[in-house]
Amino acid sequence: MDTNRSEILFDKAKKLIPGGVNSPVRAFGAVGGHPFFVERAKGPWLYDVDGNRYLDYVCSWGPGILGHAHPRVVEAVQKACNGGLTFGAPTAGEVELAELIHACVPDVEMVRLVSSGTEAVMSAVRVARGFTGREKIIKFAGNYHGHSDGLLVKAGSGLLTQSVPDSAGVPAGYAESTLTAVYNNEESVRRLMEENMGQVAAVVIEPVAANMGVVPPKKGFLEFLRRITKEQGTLLIFDEVITGFRLALGGATEYTGVHADLHTFGKIVGGGMPLAAYGGSREMMSCVAPLGEVYQAGTLSGNPVAVSAGITTLKILMEDREIYERIDRRAEKLAQAFRKKGLAVNRAGSLLSAFFKFDAMLPATGNPAPGGTEKERAVANYEDACRCDREAFANYFHNMLKRGIYVAPSQFEALFVSDAHSDELIDWTCEMIMESVAGI
Ligand SMILES: *Cc1c(COP(=O)(O)O)cnc(C)c1O
Repeated sequence: MDTNRSEILFDKAKKLIPGGVNSPVRAFGAVGGHPFFVERAKGPWLYDVDGNRYLDYVCSWGPGILGHAHPRVVEAVQKACNGGLTFGAPTAGEVELAELIHACVPDVEMVRLVSSGTEAVMSAVRVARGFTGREKIIKFAGNYHGHSDGLLVKAGSGLLTQSVPDSAGVPAGYAESTLTAVYNNEESVRRLMEENMGQVAAVVIEPVAANMGVVPPKKGFLEFLRRITKEQGTLLIFDEVITGFRLALGGATEYTGVHADLHTFGKIVGGGMPLAAYGGSREMMSCVAPLGEVYQAGTLSGNPVAVSAGITTLKILMEDREIYERIDRRAEKLAQAFRKKGLAVNRAGSLLSAFFKFDAMLPATGNPAPGGTEKERAVANYEDACRCDREAFANYFHNMLKRGIYVAPSQFEALFVSDAHSDELIDWTCEMIMESVAGI
């Protein structure tokens, strides 16, 4: 596989852009080697500047549920572009997208559009603080909520009450109000809630975690969070930037049956354009300016081009009710290929992760497996995920890439299945998985 032009571009990029990339994971730091530079994409395929073709299971980290450059989405975007790129004034499209989001997730009675998932979660947390008049929040180690100051905290292994920022440049003061609990561990949450009685504005969670590899909530865990937050007047925020419109049209609420107070969306809701959203009950969202006193704004918020991509994507998902059944079934086929090779796999809908050389038989890290057979769903939290063999993962990654299949260049990401991944392509991928994992 010739990658000469990508290498030249990467060298040039590194002189001009930190690490040569505009988002860190793209640099292939966790797997070694250099990234390929994309020229274009269509359906399930990415084409690089050297003329190589890759079957894409990253799907732009989630948005591409319909595959790349879906004709209807592209047409809608082109039409929107012809009408002007940005106005900074209200448009009918914004109302339509809000209606569609509400139709999919009825709990979201009011919604505000923003431009990135980071902004959505940051704003939802601000609403929770404004609404409750409290300052602290609880998040879970290994859950990613964007790169805003107060959320860039994972607090390492185990339960810590003193949070440490993951990034330089984040004042310790910001991180102090972020408490970190252990995913799937009720006791860790109960303790933080008790120690900070009456001070916790919100518990924010990825209802199905997908940024430490895929880690589904164990049975009863979200229900427990719902109960304990309600008891203490704390809001429950579902960060659905990945799970929204992915696990089901109604996202995690439909998938798990648990209702949150506030939801954040990104990735799919923008149909491939920079658009995200946060919303919830009318009462809570009435805190947001200009109705209320929580300030949040954006020059390009509700951008008409991005909105057109979001509307069209949601409409396609709503029209074709079998989409979710299809992509889930295909993801299960991939999961089975990994399992045949003895790997621990977590799958939720069309999201899955194979955990390399994770030994499910080692003593659990303070928590039982979240159900299923022990091998199947044994990675229950961030500490578990960290026990995987990242070198083995890197070997698998490069074996797949050599065969023309692009999976996320990190053990801690999901494999995303789109509706453009046909049964034939899935079968071929299963064969390539067997080859790529053999001998690792
Ligand atoms: C991607 C992601 C974000 C951040 O979204 P950006 O658009 O990258 O800012 C927030 N939360 C979750 C769960 C995500 O996966």
